[in-house]
Amino acid sequence: MSDAVPRGETPEPPARQPRLTVLSGPSGVGKSTVVGYLRKVHPEVWLSVSVTTRKPRPGERDGVQYHFVDDDQFDKLIANGELLEWAEFAGNRYGTPRQAVLEHLEAGVPVLLEIDLQGARQVRQTMPEARLVFLAPPSWEELVRRLTGRGTESPEVIERRLSVARVELAAESEFDVTLVNTSVEDVVRELLALMTVR
Ligand code: 5GP
Repeated sequence: MSDAVPRGETPEPPARQPRLTVLSGPSGVGKSTVVGYLRKVHPEVWLSVSVTTRKPRPGERDGVQYHFVDDDQFDKLIANGELLEWAEFAGNRYGTPRQAVLEHLEAGVPVLLEIDLQGARQVRQTMPEARLVFLAPPSWEELVRRLTGRGTESPEVIERRLSVARVELAAESEFDVTLVNTSVEDVVRELLALMTVR
């Protein structure tokens, strides 16, 4: 019988260690595009599947983008302490199932959460070892362009979105790292490097 590590010697710790990474940032910055691309090209990264009370959009499947639940089910998850964090966003509730995250980390799998700013703050409190990544727009003008879309929204709605975006951008200083979303491929490469380096 041959051991990889001679008896009596302590094995070297693995050069790379899985960690919990949180990706957050202002609405409209492109978080879900980054995550969609990551899911396609890097299946080895485990993406937490959140629970939400929002209705599925066309093309979304239960258990893939989200677990879709009703208000009562969401209340129960909170009451039973099954959510690592949760927040209300644009009239719906979203939360991260705790058990699945912990199981994957224990099994040595890198875990990524794509959540809003309120959720990121909660993770900072409950799991201080997590690395918080802020996805920033290439410029304020670009974020305005993404938020105003095709210009079909009323000036009041647009103004409200922009004032929320100003507040959200100011949260950058609370994060460990900022990645600028110039190209989805670059961001995913940088994100992967952050997820696996100790
Ligand atoms: P959407 O409805 O567009 O899929 O997501 C709306 C917002 O909810 C996004 O900012 C997204 O990051 C956030 N979100 C998705 N899942 C979670 C979650 O589990 N917890 C929190 N706090 N936010 C989430």
